[in-house]
Amino acid sequence: MEIVILAVVIAVVVVGALVGGLVVGSRGKKRLPPPPPSVPDITAPPAEPHIGEEAETPRDEPRRTIEEVDLPVSGAEPSAPTAVAEPPAPAAPEIEVPEPTAGRLVRLRTRLSRSQNALGKGLLTLLSREHLDEDTWEEIEDTLLTADVGVQPTQELVDRLRERVKVLGTRTPDELRALLREELLQLLVPEFDRSVNTEALEGPGIVMVVGVNGTGKTTTTGKLARVLVADGKNVVLGAADTFRAAAADQLQTWGERVGARTVRGPEGGDPASIAFDSVKEGIEEGADVVLIDTAGRLHTKTGLMDELGKVKRVVEKHAPLDEILLVLDATTGQNGLVQARVFAEVVDITGIVLTKLDGTAKGGIVIAVQRELGVPVKLIGLGEGPDDLAPFEAEAFVDALIGE
Ligand code: GDP
Repeated sequence: MEIVILAVVIAVVVVGALVGGLVVGSRGKKRLPPPPPSVPDITAPPAEPHIGEEAETPRDEPRRTIEEVDLPVSGAEPSAPTAVAEPPAPAAPEIEVPEPTAGRLVRLRTRLSRSQNALGKGLLTLLSREHLDEDTWEEIEDTLLTADVGVQPTQELVDRLRERVKVLGTRTPDELRALLREELLQLLVPEFDRSVNTEALEGPGIVMVVGVNGTGKTTTTGKLARVLVADGKNVVLGAADTFRAAAADQLQTWGERVGARTVRGPEGGDPASIAFDSVKEGIEEGADVVLIDTAGRLHTKTGLMDELGKVKRVVEKHAPLDEILLVLDATTGQNGLVQARVFAEVVDITGIVLTKLDGTAKGGIVIAVQRELGVPVKLIGLGEGPDDLAPFEAEAFVDALIGE
């Protein structure tokens, strides 16, 4: 009897050990891509907590090395040294080489035409109608107004088109395209100097970027730093948008990617003193350009005027500002024009950057805002990618609108 009981107990123990071993073995298989033969060891304790936990880890977890999982049981895994070397070394951040600026608008033109066919193609279709009656001219007007071209420029364009179409008589599609191209180009004032002025008489060129928060101001400052670096300039960034949390971090990250230094201060600190320090730094470093990002709080006009006015005054203790760029979000339409007016009263805007033109069919805002401020659109944002900021070229812009 006792022998029988002993035999049963031994059998239970042996079966138990085998089952436990298989569980460990199968877990071992699950966690290791090529299961080393030594892992399933049935003499090992059935379930050490850490083994169990690690077995739950997905096998394709990117950051977990073989060693972390295997240390307790692995002897000599041949691939081990390679795996140890894999985790990212704490190397200096890699400096990117930004894309050259020439031809960027041509590269990005599909982003424009995709969203703005309504304007160019719509106009061409309307103008191709056999009878250009009053209703058609009204439709042409509506198309222009919908694209945010603005009332006055729309009226001018329609008047010119009417006149020229009459003179033309019969119209071939090519003639119409050429005519529309010429007239749109004229409205864009092709003779504007659209270069960003970074040439100072002495010391670095100083560029201040202003605009309402959310328009893409910091992103634009970062992209512009890349444009300047691509053009061979040495850039210092001033993170004077101390109002928006993380704006300074954001700008610094942009700078680090192209090796530009960022001067920053405490969050909520005095923007003017950061602007002052960044220019000082730029002068001491012998930089070519100092780019200052500012905060765009449109709480009251007086508040904005006080803040930007102070930044400007303080910077100009070093040297005059060479460029004041106003960043406007093209998707905000008339609201953007209101912002433009307010900023223009506060500082002397010398150039406009229109962002998010990739996300709107209202490209006519380029015409309206230039007209409103009397200063050129110098750059346009056509996406969130680092090199999606293009120097504005009137001809390429019109070609993108109406197709070549
Ligand atoms: P800020 O508050 O004015 O400094 O705004 P940010 O620079 O942080 O930009 C606000 C958002 O707009 C971000 O998500 C940017 O990626 C986005 N943005 C900026 N420029 C463009 C652009 O040209 N196209 C698109 N699609 N998004 C943009």
